[in-house]
Amino acid sequence: MASIADLRKKYLGAVDATDEDMRIVSAVREFVDKEIMPYRQDLDGGWHRDEKLAKETFERIHQGLVDIGVQRAIYPEKFGGLGVSGFASEMIYEEISRGDAGIATHMGIINWVMMPAFIAGRMDLLKKFIPIICDDKPHGCCMAITEPSGGANSEDPTQHGRTIKTIAELDGDEWVINGHKIWPSGASVADVAYCSVCTTDPDLGDEGVALIYVPPDANGMSFSKPFEKMGMCWTDTNTEIFFDNVRVPKENRVAGPGEDAKILHDIVGMGRIGTCGFALGAAQACFEIVLDWTKQREIAGRPVRARSLHAGILGEMALKIESARAYSIQVNRMIRTGLYGRPGEPLLLSKCSAAKAYVCDITLWVANKAMELMGSYGFAFNYDVEKYLRDVKILQLWLGGPQRAILDTALGYYQFEW
Ligand SMILES: Cc1cc2nc3c(=O)[nH]c(=O)nc-3n(C[C@H](O)[C@H](O)[C@H](O)COP(=O)(O)OP(=O)(O)OC[C@H]3O[C@@H](n4cnc5c(N)ncnc54)[C@H](O)[C@@H]3O)c2cc1C
Repeated sequence: MASIADLRKKYLGAVDATDEDMRIVSAVREFVDKEIMPYRQDLDGGWHRDEKLAKETFERIHQGLVDIGVQRAIYPEKFGGLGVSGFASEMIYEEISRGDAGIATHMGIINWVMMPAFIAGRMDLLKKFIPIICDDKPHGCCMAITEPSGGANSEDPTQHGRTIKTIAELDGDEWVINGHKIWPSGASVADVAYCSVCTTDPDLGDEGVALIYVPPDANGMSFSKPFEKMGMCWTDTNTEIFFDNVRVPKENRVAGPGEDAKILHDIVGMGRIGTCGFALGAAQACFEIVLDWTKQREIAGRPVRARSLHAGILGEMALKIESARAYSIQVNRMIRTGLYGRPGEPLLLSKCSAAKAYVCDITLWVANKAMELMGSYGFAFNYDVEKYLRDVKILQLWLGGPQRAILDTALGYYQFEW
């Protein structure tokens, strides 16, 4: 089992985590080393992209992570969860992403989708969903924000929800939803809930925004074929979602006029800071691979990493990863103290967005440099770095991309509209 003391050192002392928290982080790390690392290439179906191999590998690993408690980790013990802290959860997802960012995405989305109900204090909804999540089967959820006309627009606080085109109309005791989403992770495979970002009327701005939980078997909800992507090919499923007169009970709306818009921005902030853990895990993995490779590989009689030029690059990788992790932990702490407002308000949204932009840039830099230090071996499928590079690019692009993240960073310092 990975030493808890070593993990505490890695996570800057992990001062906010209990020993119980650290034990599950350590169990996850051990699982990743034994059950994911040797099968990383199979998650892509091998070089020939064998769908059957990819899916079987994903299902086996997913079940294994459920068995050691990852899926139910953050939920209260009264619902069958393990009650680990949010801080420990960040460490857990960094460790999973060290093995595979796509699996971290698929599993992490569940917690993200439950967040609106938690923020709104909707015990009735949580009592419906959480016992399913805390059972012993693997599950999935979907957060449907992005639309064909734009993802960044829907997340942009200065647009006040006016660009959202998925319409929810109240008809008696039911919402009737019509619209079209594109790209959401978990689309078509989610079996617990689809948190769907709608509007009752785009002209109402923030007052119109409506977050509505749609059950996976709702009549009128259909999907396109999954998109074929550069990375996370089989671990994260992305499709279009079509809502054609989808009827859901009135009580499935998370909060109400005005409050749903605030919760939308909270989940954007939380999604961005959550992305940092995924990115850091992949950066750490690339660093570990290249440290080992440059130790074994000799050029003119000395290991590559003994050359000062290369030692300088390895040192810079460590510096960047450590500073990115420190920044991400600091922003997480700011959120969890509750002293700085909501994660969707300008101050914390600015910090979450800056952290995401910074950490993703560093991760891409680390993966790219790892490839350089390994020469052609870094470029080859069999040595794993190329898979990390392919998988992590989307971390930078989703939730509005780096441009939206930088604009939201600026919005923490002064307000502007366009
Ligand atoms: C693997 C994967 C997983 C995903 N998961 C999810 C998910 O779970 N849920 C979900 O809802 N969506 C998801 N998405 C969609 C993703 O979040 C969006 O594609 C992303 O937010 C960007 O939106 P877009 O592609 O429409 O680009 P656009 O919004 O068209 O943006 C295009 C470019 O313009 C920039 N830009 C945007 N606004 C501004 C501005 N005001 N000023 C200057 N530049 C700007 C952007 O940064 C980008 O560079 C996923 C996508 C993929 C590929």
